[in-house]
Amino acid sequence: MNLILMGLPGAGKGTQAEKISNKYNIPHISTGDMFRLAIKEGTDLGIKAKEFMDQGDLVPDEVTIGIVEERLGKDDCQNGFLLDGFPRTIAQAEALQALLTNMDEDIDYVLHVDVPEEQLVKRLTGRRICPTCGSTYHVMYNAPKEEGICDKDGSELIQRKDDTSETVKTRLNVNIKQTKPLLDFYQEKGYLVSINGDKDIDVVFQDIQAKLEKLAL
Ligand code: AMP
Repeated sequence: MNLILMGLPGAGKGTQAEKISNKYNIPHISTGDMFRLAIKEGTDLGIKAKEFMDQGDLVPDEVTIGIVEERLGKDDCQNGFLLDGFPRTIAQAEALQALLTNMDEDIDYVLHVDVPEEQLVKRLTGRRICPTCGSTYHVMYNAPKEEGICDKDGSELIQRKDDTSETVKTRLNVNIKQTKPLLDFYQEKGYLVSINGDKDIDVVFQDIQAKLEKLAL
Protein backbone atom coordinates (compact mmCIF):
# COMPACT_ATOMS: atom_id res chain seq x y z
CA MET A 1 0.00 0.00 0.00
CA ASN A 2 1.39 3.39 -1.03
CA LEU A 3 0.27 6.07 1.39
CA ILE A 4 0.86 9.72 2.14
CA LEU A 5 0.01 11.03 5.60
CA MET A 6 -0.92 14.67 6.06
CA GLY A 7 -1.88 16.72 9.09
CA LEU A 8 -0.98 19.92 10.91
CA PRO A 9 1.47 20.06 13.84
CA GLY A 10 -0.21 18.53 16.89
CA ALA A 11 -2.66 16.44 14.83
CA GLY A 12 -1.01 13.22 16.01
CA LYS A 13 0.53 12.37 12.66
CA GLY A 14 3.70 10.84 14.10
CA THR A 15 1.76 8.56 16.44
CA GLN A 16 -0.56 7.35 13.70
CA ALA A 17 2.36 6.93 11.28
CA GLU A 18 4.03 4.48 13.64
CA LYS A 19 0.83 2.46 14.05
CA ILE A 20 0.09 2.35 10.31
CA SER A 21 3.66 1.39 9.50
CA ASN A 22 3.56 -1.54 11.97
CA LYS A 23 0.13 -2.76 11.02
CA TYR A 24 0.62 -2.73 7.24
CA ASN A 25 4.32 -3.54 7.31
CA ILE A 26 5.38 -0.55 5.26
CA PRO A 27 8.29 1.80 6.09
CA HIS A 28 7.49 5.16 7.65
CA ILE A 29 9.42 7.64 5.51
CA SER A 30 9.69 11.05 7.13
CA THR A 31 11.77 13.57 5.18
CA GLY A 32 12.19 15.62 8.39
CA ASP A 33 13.67 12.57 10.16
CA MET A 34 15.93 11.85 7.19
CA PHE A 35 17.28 15.40 7.24
CA ARG A 36 17.78 15.34 11.03
CA LEU A 37 19.70 12.08 10.77
CA ALA A 38 21.87 13.46 7.94
CA ILE A 39 22.66 16.52 10.07
CA LYS A 40 23.58 14.33 13.03
CA GLU A 41 25.84 12.22 10.84
CA GLY A 42 27.38 15.30 9.22
CA THR A 43 26.86 14.08 5.65
CA ASP A 44 26.85 16.42 2.62
CA LEU A 45 23.08 16.22 2.58
CA GLY A 46 23.00 17.19 6.25
CA ILE A 47 25.26 20.18 5.69
CA LYS A 48 23.02 21.36 2.83
CA ALA A 49 19.75 20.77 4.69
CA LYS A 50 20.90 22.40 7.95
CA GLU A 51 21.32 25.79 6.30
CA PHE A 52 17.61 25.84 5.40
CA MET A 53 16.20 24.09 8.44
CA ASP A 54 17.97 26.48 10.83
CA GLN A 55 16.18 29.36 9.14
CA GLY A 56 12.83 27.57 9.34
CA ASP A 57 12.76 27.31 5.53
CA LEU A 58 11.96 24.34 3.33
CA VAL A 59 14.92 22.44 1.93
CA PRO A 60 15.00 23.06 -1.87
CA ASP A 61 12.80 20.76 -3.93
CA GLU A 62 15.62 19.20 -5.96
CA VAL A 63 17.42 18.06 -2.80
CA THR A 64 14.25 16.76 -1.16
CA ILE A 65 12.93 15.00 -4.26
CA GLY A 66 16.36 13.40 -4.74
CA ILE A 67 16.40 11.81 -1.28
CA VAL A 68 12.82 10.58 -1.61
CA GLU A 69 13.58 9.03 -5.00
CA GLU A 70 16.58 7.21 -3.55
CA ARG A 71 14.60 6.05 -0.51
CA LEU A 72 11.64 4.72 -2.52
CA GLY A 73 14.07 2.63 -4.58
CA LYS A 74 15.12 0.62 -1.50
CA ASP A 75 14.00 -3.00 -1.07
CA ASP A 76 11.83 -2.37 1.97
CA CYS A 77 9.47 -0.27 -0.17
CA GLN A 78 8.42 -3.21 -2.34
CA ASN A 79 5.40 -3.74 -0.14
CA GLY A 80 4.56 -0.03 -0.16
CA PHE A 81 5.45 3.02 1.91
CA LEU A 82 4.05 5.70 4.16
CA LEU A 83 5.29 9.18 3.33
CA ASP A 84 5.23 11.77 6.11
CA GLY A 85 6.25 15.41 5.59
CA PHE A 86 6.51 14.89 1.83
CA PRO A 87 5.24 16.28 -0.49
CA ARG A 88 5.20 19.79 0.97
CA THR A 89 4.87 21.69 -2.35
CA ILE A 90 2.96 21.15 -5.58
CA ALA A 91 6.30 20.75 -7.41
CA GLN A 92 7.15 17.90 -5.02
CA ALA A 93 3.71 16.33 -5.52
CA GLU A 94 4.16 16.43 -9.29
CA ALA A 95 7.68 15.05 -9.08
CA LEU A 96 6.39 12.22 -6.88
CA GLN A 97 3.69 11.38 -9.41
CA ALA A 98 6.30 11.23 -12.20
CA LEU A 99 8.66 9.16 -10.09
CA LEU A 100 5.97 6.63 -9.20
CA THR A 101 4.79 6.38 -12.79
CA ASN A 102 8.38 5.53 -13.76
CA MET A 103 8.35 2.77 -11.15
CA ASP A 104 5.00 1.52 -12.45
CA GLU A 105 3.44 2.48 -9.16
CA ASP A 106 0.85 4.95 -7.95
CA ILE A 107 -0.31 6.49 -4.69
CA ASP A 108 -3.20 4.58 -3.17
CA TYR A 109 -4.45 7.10 -0.63
CA VAL A 110 -3.58 10.40 0.95
CA LEU A 111 -4.71 10.23 4.58
CA HIS A 112 -5.47 13.59 6.10
CA VAL A 113 -5.68 13.57 9.91
CA ASP A 114 -7.97 16.52 10.45
CA VAL A 115 -8.17 18.33 13.80
CA PRO A 116 -9.85 21.74 14.28
CA GLU A 117 -7.39 24.59 14.71
CA GLU A 118 -8.64 25.59 18.22
CA GLN A 119 -8.04 22.03 19.35
CA LEU A 120 -4.52 22.05 17.93
CA VAL A 121 -3.75 25.28 19.77
CA LYS A 122 -4.94 23.62 23.01
CA ARG A 123 -2.87 20.52 22.37
CA LEU A 124 0.28 22.42 21.46
CA THR A 125 0.13 25.06 24.20
CA GLY A 126 -0.60 22.48 26.92
CA ARG A 127 2.81 20.88 26.66
CA ARG A 128 5.08 21.20 29.70
CA ILE A 129 8.66 20.04 30.02
CA CYS A 130 10.92 19.16 32.90
CA PRO A 131 14.11 21.23 32.47
CA THR A 132 16.06 18.68 34.52
CA CYS A 133 15.19 15.28 33.05
CA GLY A 134 13.42 16.25 29.78
CA SER A 135 10.14 14.42 30.56
CA THR A 136 7.15 15.87 28.75
CA TYR A 137 3.64 16.33 30.14
CA HIS A 138 0.40 17.80 28.93
CA VAL A 139 -1.83 19.84 31.22
CA MET A 140 -4.94 18.03 29.94
CA TYR A 141 -3.88 14.73 28.39
CA ASN A 142 -0.89 13.70 30.46
CA ALA A 143 -0.88 15.82 33.60
CA PRO A 144 1.76 15.35 36.32
CA LYS A 145 0.47 14.12 39.70
CA GLU A 146 1.11 17.54 41.23
CA GLU A 147 0.37 20.53 39.00
CA GLY A 148 3.53 22.08 37.54
CA ILE A 149 5.89 19.57 39.16
CA CYS A 150 7.81 16.74 37.49
CA ASP A 151 6.73 13.29 38.75
CA LYS A 152 10.24 11.93 38.35
CA ASP A 153 12.48 14.47 40.02
CA GLY A 154 10.26 17.17 41.56
CA SER A 155 11.57 19.99 39.33
CA GLU A 156 9.27 22.84 38.35
CA LEU A 157 7.92 22.25 34.83
CA ILE A 158 8.39 24.87 32.13
CA GLN A 159 6.64 25.77 28.87
CA ARG A 160 8.93 25.99 25.85
CA LYS A 161 9.04 29.37 24.11
CA ASP A 162 7.76 27.89 20.84
CA ASP A 163 4.77 26.31 22.63
CA THR A 164 3.24 29.65 23.65
CA SER A 165 -0.08 30.62 22.13
CA GLU A 166 1.17 33.33 19.72
CA THR A 167 4.03 31.23 18.36
CA VAL A 168 1.79 28.19 18.01
CA LYS A 169 -0.82 30.17 16.06
CA THR A 170 1.82 31.58 13.71
CA ARG A 171 3.29 28.11 13.18
CA LEU A 172 -0.14 26.68 12.42
CA ASN A 173 -1.00 29.46 9.98
CA VAL A 174 2.22 28.94 8.04
CA ASN A 175 1.42 25.23 7.87
CA ILE A 176 -2.19 25.75 6.82
CA LYS A 177 -1.04 27.98 3.94
CA GLN A 178 1.48 25.35 2.85
CA THR A 179 -0.87 22.39 3.15
CA LYS A 180 -4.05 23.74 1.57
CA PRO A 181 -2.88 23.62 -2.09
CA LEU A 182 -1.73 20.02 -1.58
CA LEU A 183 -5.02 18.93 -0.05
CA ASP A 184 -6.82 20.54 -3.02
CA PHE A 185 -4.42 18.84 -5.45
CA TYR A 186 -5.08 15.37 -4.00
CA GLN A 187 -8.79 15.99 -3.53
CA GLU A 188 -9.13 16.84 -7.23
CA LYS A 189 -7.30 13.68 -8.19
CA GLY A 190 -9.53 11.58 -5.91
CA TYR A 191 -6.79 10.35 -3.54
CA LEU A 192 -7.79 12.25 -0.42
CA VAL A 193 -9.24 10.39 2.57
CA SER A 194 -10.12 12.58 5.57
CA ILE A 195 -9.92 11.19 9.07
CA ASN A 196 -11.33 12.95 12.12
CA GLY A 197 -8.26 13.27 14.34
CA ASP A 198 -10.14 14.93 17.20
CA LYS A 199 -10.62 11.65 19.07
CA ASP A 200 -8.60 9.24 21.20
CA ILE A 201 -5.40 7.93 19.57
CA ASP A 202 -6.74 4.37 19.35
CA VAL A 203 -10.11 5.45 17.97
CA VAL A 204 -8.41 7.51 15.26
CA PHE A 205 -6.31 4.49 14.33
CA GLN A 206 -9.39 2.25 14.19
CA ASP A 207 -11.05 4.79 11.87
CA ILE A 208 -7.98 4.79 9.62
CA GLN A 209 -8.00 1.00 9.41
CA ALA A 210 -11.75 0.86 8.79
CA LYS A 211 -11.48 3.42 5.97
CA LEU A 212 -8.52 1.72 4.33
CA GLU A 213 -10.15 -1.69 4.53
CA LYS A 214 -13.45 -0.39 3.14
CA LEU A 215 -11.68 1.39 0.27
CA ALA A 216 -9.64 -1.72 -0.59
CA LEU A 217 -12.79 -3.80 -1.11
P1 AMP B 1 9.33 18.03 9.81
O1 AMP B 1 9.96 17.13 10.81
O2 AMP B 1 8.50 17.30 8.80
O3 AMP B 1 8.56 19.16 10.44
O4 AMP B 1 10.51 18.72 8.99
C1 AMP B 1 11.51 19.51 9.61
C2 AMP B 1 12.18 20.41 8.58
O5 AMP B 1 12.79 19.60 7.55
C3 AMP B 1 11.23 21.33 7.82
O6 AMP B 1 10.98 22.50 8.53
C4 AMP B 1 12.03 21.59 6.54
O7 AMP B 1 13.06 22.51 6.75
C5 AMP B 1 12.66 20.22 6.27
N1 AMP B 1 11.76 19.38 5.45
C6 AMP B 1 11.12 18.25 5.82
N2 AMP B 1 10.39 17.74 4.80
C7 AMP B 1 10.54 18.60 3.77
C8 AMP B 1 10.02 18.67 2.44
N3 AMP B 1 9.16 17.74 1.97
N4 AMP B 1 10.42 19.69 1.65
C9 AMP B 1 11.27 20.62 2.10
N5 AMP B 1 11.79 20.66 3.34
C10 AMP B 1 11.44 19.65 4.18
